[in-house]
Order: sequence, then structure tokens, then C-alpha cells
Amino acid sequence: MSNNDYDDSQKDPDKKPPKFNLNNRAALISLLILVGFFLFFLVFQTQGMQVHIPYSDFKKDLEQGKIQKIEILDNLTIIGQYKTAPSEGQRDFKSQIPYLDNDLVEELLKNNVIVEGGSTANDPLQIFLGLLPWIIAFLFIWFMFRQVQGSGSRAFSFGKSRAKRYLDTSKKITFQDVAGQKEAKYELEEVVQFLKNPGKFIKIGARIPTGVLLVGMPGTGKTLLAKAIAGEANVPFFHMSGSDFVEMFVGVGASRVRDLFDQGRKNAPCILFIDELDAVGRTRGAGYGGGHDEREQTLNQMLVEMDGFDTKDGVIILAATNRPDVLDPALLRPGRFDRQVVIDMPDIKEREDIIRIHCRKIPPSDDIDYQKLARATPGTSGADLANLVNEAALFAARKNQTHVHMADFEEARDKLLMGIAKKSKIIPVKEKEMTAYHEAGHTILHYFLENADPLHKVTIIPHGRAGGVTMPLPKDDIHYYSRGYSEDKIKVLLGGYAAEQLVYGETTSGASNDIEKATRLARMMVCEWGMSEKMGPVAYGQKEEPIFIGKEIARHREYSEETAQLLDKEVEKIIIDCLNISVKLLTDNKDKLKLLADTLVVRETLDGTEVEELLGFKPKNDDIEE
Ligand code: ADP
Ligand code: ZN
Ligand code: MG
Repeated sequence: MSNNDYDDSQKDPDKKPPKFNLNNRAALISLLILVGFFLFFLVFQTQGMQVHIPYSDFKKDLEQGKIQKIEILDNLTIIGQYKTAPSEGQRDFKSQIPYLDNDLVEELLKNNVIVEGGSTANDPLQIFLGLLPWIIAFLFIWFMFRQVQGSGSRAFSFGKSRAKRYLDTSKKITFQDVAGQKEAKYELEEVVQFLKNPGKFIKIGARIPTGVLLVGMPGTGKTLLAKAIAGEANVPFFHMSGSDFVEMFVGVGASRVRDLFDQGRKNAPCILFIDELDAVGRTRGAGYGGGHDEREQTLNQMLVEMDGFDTKDGVIILAATNRPDVLDPALLRPGRFDRQVVIDMPDIKEREDIIRIHCRKIPPSDDIDYQKLARATPGTSGADLANLVNEAALFAARKNQTHVHMADFEEARDKLLMGIAKKSKIIPVKEKEMTAYHEAGHTILHYFLENADPLHKVTIIPHGRAGGVTMPLPKDDIHYYSRGYSEDKIKVLLGGYAAEQLVYGETTSGASNDIEKATRLARMMVCEWGMSEKMGPVAYGQKEEPIFIGKEIARHREYSEETAQLLDKEVEKIIIDCLNISVKLLTDNKDKLKLLADTLVVRETLDGTEVEELLGFKPKNDDIEE
């Protein structure tokens, strides 16, 4: 039961039954072919082979007239055939002449033997049979290699960059496909102009940065923008991800970097795009457990290659990262990625535009309120919104609609922001009622507090891990939290807890998420935002950073034990004061709380206007015109 709870517990990878792997099948077939070959030649061999007989026996048989025909291969080898096969053995025989027998032919003719001159003792079949073991061995090794390659190790292509080149002009992405990001586009336009006409810039001696780093949160459209630049400038675009450089063999990354830059030189003017640069570009010498020699070598090679480039080459190196703070400072030096372009999270207008852009791919119905959707999706990235449109289309398709309606968007949005609604989950009546009071507590406070966000909707259908959800609908994107806003937010967060306390005299574990959020907010007010008179505008302690980034491992607490106690007291004071106000407001309006809770038990979900009708007044903080 939480305000705006994000759920991350839904993904349950469905396992497929183990399938007969294509590689295994290929191996089996090749093995069968091999065995077949072998058997075939074994049979052939016994048929085509002659028994070897001593020359003396041959002479004897010749005199007795048993020989049908003879072939003299060279001066010393003969193969022949008996008239009838001897009792033990076969018709064909072979013999070696021990010395040059000049009388042999005469003797043969005398005995009416058919005589032929063979060309050579090197019978092709003989040669082949001699080579057979080698051929089999070779084939075997070859198949082994195929197997190794097929399973992904790519035995022979380690050092190649594997950069993907975008050539597809039919699906060209341009700046038109990127909503908002005006500032970024403006800065990148210069790069586009340069790539279109490098001469103009070189003539006048203007230096265009060789390296441009796109910095922004995940999903803000960095990769998209890079592709749009290539589309606008109409030049080859080589795309590689930072992690592609990192392989388990030392030296491979460096050689891939070299290869990538070579490709760039050959295809100039062009763009080299390194996505997720932080995978290779992390500060050298940082990190746990042993050296990351391979990564450092790769990075060094990249630095060297970038130094070797000049604007005149007409190659622009673009890179994207969401962690510029962990990049090695050497990468950001002049001459390398000295131009940084920040890609911001979209604001409310940009969100609207992004939704509109993605709606071009679906048949939207006329009832879609883009503005409201943008308002209802604060803090989401471009990728989230693209996903939203897709989810809405999926809902529409499931219902066999021809168009995507606003209702589908609402459903998709709820799913994305709160987790999927578990409508079929059976909840005990008592628990359902408690949830209704809890959510009603949040809801009433949304209406009574002057600084609280207006309500979007409230539901007691479980979503994700939350038992129920109360969703606010901020009027605008909030970049700064005022003290009044922060305090009212804490009051709303504690509204569920307060209602439980008031109605049942005890509280449930359902309030834990609310309490956690309220406490975190209160601590930030005291320690970072200077919103406590007692503690003053002093920053207490450093912001926590996850240690795996490998920059600074130790975190210092820069205040004394006494200060720590004071801080805790102040945080507690804020929480308690807010809770008291919440409890008082709910006590004064207990009838409204009951009405709302009872209605929720029956109707399960209420949106802002329905709550408004029920309570009989508009939220205190509602001056929006729609
Ligand atoms: P990043 O590389 O910053 O993590 P991407 O460029 O991969 O993000 O963006 C993912 C998807 O989100 C894009 O393919 C696009 O569909 C959508 N998107 C993100 N930002 C925008 C935007 N400004 N305009 C239109 N679509 C966007
Ligand atoms: Zn709650
Ligand atoms: Mg990306």
C-alpha cells in the first residue's frame, strides 16, 4: 500500500523446454556422413583390392594356363585376373616382379593371356585410399572448428571491431523523429553541418570538436540522437557498444579499437559512435580485485587513436554514457571528448511530443488527451513513453479494437507506473476494508492539504506488491521541493498509517513503504536542503554513492556523534509533527473518511472527479484549468 509504488517483481522469465539444439544436430549429421564415407570405402576397398601373390606362384599359375589377363603397371608391378577364382581367395591378384623379366611378355603371349600396359602404379584409387585417414582427420578437425565457432567464440575474428554499419536508407532516422531536446539538437546541428560540408569549416580554420559526448539518463534518447545525426548528415555511421570491446582475451579490445578507427579513416567523412562508453572508459586504476589490464589497454588505445585524429579527417567520434562521473578524466581532455551535450529527461511538453511521435505508428483514436497523459507520467523517460504507447496498442489489440483509445493508455500507464493490476486476487473482506481505509486516508489528505498534488486516482486493487494505490497527478514537473510541499508530501504519505491508527487503533505492515519514503524525505530536508531551523543550512554527510563505481570507496561521516543524534531528533520531529496534523485532519473528517472507504470497498477504483463528487468539494490545491 503505497503512494505511487513502482513494482519490479513481475518479470518471471518463462522457461522453454530444452530444445534440440541446431548445433548439436549439425554435429550429428556431419558425424553420420563421416561414418557413411568410411563404410563405403571399406566395402569398395575389399572389392577393388587384389590379393598379393609371390612372383613364383604367378609364374607357376601362368604355366598352368590359369591366368586370364595381365596389366603391367610399370616395369616391376603387375595386376591380373585368374580365369576362375582359386578355391581360397579371389580372381584379382597382384604381384611384384623381382627383376627386369625380359621374357615375360613373350611367355604371356604364348599362354594366350591378354596383356595390357598400365600407365602407372599410382592408381588413383590407391592414392585416395592412402590419403583417406588424413582426409578423415582433416574433416574431423574442420567440423570441430565449426562447432567452436558456432557456439560463439568466433575463433578467427577476434581482432575485428565488429562495428555495425547503418546503411539502411529506407528507415532513416532524422531529427524529426526525436521529440524535444532542442538544446541538444542545436549543438549537434553544428556537427551535422560539418559532416555535410567539411571544406567550408576547414577553409576558415574553424576547429570542430572531434569527440562529442552525449550525457544523459538511460532511455533519454542518446542512441536515437546519434542515429539521427547520421541520418541528417547522410554519412556512414559505425555503431559499437563499449562492452563490445571488452573480451576475455588480453589485447583484443585494443585491436578492435584500432580496427574501428581504421574503418573510420577509410570511410571519411563518417561518424563513429561508441555507445555506453563507460564500459571501457572508466577511470584507470580503480575497481576491485586485481587490475583490469585488458580494459585499461583498450582505453589507452582509444586515447591514442583519438589523439591521432584531426578535424581534417572528417571523422566525428560520438559517444554516449549515463555515467560521465566515472569516466577517466583523460577521455574528457581537450582534443578528445571535449564537447559534452547533456540530454535531459523530457519535461511535460516534451513528454507530450514524444507520445505524439510514437502515436504516428499506431492508429490513435480522437479521444486521446495527450496533455493529460504527459501530466500523468512525471519522471518517465522517452523510452518509458515509447513503451507506454506500445503497451496501449497491445491492450487495444487484445480487445480487438481498430483504434487505440484513451482508456487503453490509462491502463498501460497504470501498469507501467504501478505494476500490473491483480484483479483476480482474492482478498479477505477484513483486509480489503483496511486497505480501503488506508487509501482513503491518503486520498482525503490529497484534498485537504494546500500544497499536496491533486489526486489522479485511488484503487484498492493490488498492483505489483502494493495492496492498493493512491496516484497523484502533479500539475507540473517539479524541480524544486519547497518546504511546504515537502511537508505536505510527508503528511500524505503518512495518511494511510494515520487512518489505520484512527479507525483500528493499530497499524499494519502495509504502511512500511510509506514510512520509508516519508523518512527519507524528512532526512533530506534536514541534511541536504537546510529546512530545519535548528540544524541550519549545512550539508551533513556526503551523498551516498554505490561503491561498485570504483571511484571513492570510503564514505566519510563528517559530523560528530552528538550531531548525528541531533539530526535524528530533527528528522523524527518533522515526521511526528506531520503525522499529528494528518491524524487531526482525518479525525475532523472521519465521516468523509468512512464514506470514501465504504465506496472504495464497493467500487474498488475511483478517479479524481469521482472522489470530488463524493466529498463535495474540489482539492485545496486545484487551480488547473482543463
Ligand atoms: P538511451 O540511448 O539514452 O538509453 P535510446 O536512444 O536507446 O536511449 O532511447 C530508447 C527509445 O526511447 C528510442 O528508441 C525511442 O523510441 C524512445 N525515445 C527516447 N527519447 C525520445 C525522444 N526524445 N523522442 C522520441 N523518442 C524517444
Ligand atoms: Zn500507503
Ligand atoms: Mg543507448
